[in-house]
Amino acid sequence: MPVYEYEHIGEGCARGKRFEIYQGIDEPRLEKCPFCGEPVERLIPRVYVNTPITDSELKSMGFAKLVRRDEGVYENVTALDGESKVMEAGKPETMPDLKRRIRD
Ligand SMILES: [Zn+2]
Repeated sequence: MPVYEYEHIGEGCARGKRFEIYQGIDEPRLEKCPFCGEPVERLIPRVYVNTPITDSELKSMGFAKLVRRDEGVYENVTALDGESKVMEAGKPETMPDLKRRIRD
C-alpha cells in the first residue's frame, strides 16, 4: 500500500502541517485532514515523479541490487570493481561488500 503525503492548506494540526498516510491506490484522495478535518492537499508522490532508477544510479547511490537468476544464485547487477558479479547462497565471498557502500 503506498504512503501518500498530505499538507494542510492552512495551519497544521497536532499531526503537523504535513503528514503521511497509507492509502490504497484506488482510494480517493483525502480533501480533509482525518485528524482535524481542515482542508489538505495531496503532495505529488515522489515515487511516481522519479523516472525509474537505473542499476548504475543505484550503484552510485551505494545500493546493491541482486537479481535472482537461479535457486540460491543472484546476479549482483551493481557489482563494484573486485566484487563478485554472481552471489551464491552459502558462499560468503560472493556477497556484496556492504562495508564499502556504507560510509560516512
Ligand atoms: Zn489536521
